Amino acid sequence: MAEKTLFQKIMDRDEQGDILYEDDLCVALRDINPQAPTHVLIVPRKPIPTLDDLTEQDEPLVGHLFLVAQKVAAAEGLTDGYRTVFNNGRAGQQTVWHIHLHLIGGRRMSWPPG
Ligand code: AMP
Repeated sequence: MAEKTLFQKIMDRDEQGDILYEDDLCVALRDINPQAPTHVLIVPRKPIPTLDDLTEQDEPLVGHLFLVAQKVAAAEGLTDGYRTVFNNGRAGQQTVWHIHLHLIGGRRMSWPPG
């Protein structure tokens, strides 16, 4: 069996994590190194390593992650907007090889990102 990813370990409560939402398909947890007052990672339970590993079967799952981001943003009071980001691959600054949608808010964002 493949070794669990960091996020699987957190989902399975093998490792500590600040989980604020979970359902059958995904978990939302606070980022340990927040880049804004709200920084939440929405992680599918399915350990898909990168966006390049997605298949057609995963299409509804990816949509679900965005709807969860919307719910978490509302619960966090992000009424004036927020940013959602997938970092993908080494050049995209991905560091955990289990896809996750960053939900970042509570401050004004700049553009372009670095
Ligand atoms: P990425 O660089 O897009 O792969 O994002 C990985 C994110 O996971 C980073 O923002 C890290 O701060 C965050 N992270 C790493 N370890 C943990 C942890 N134990 N609990 C919560 N977030 C973490």
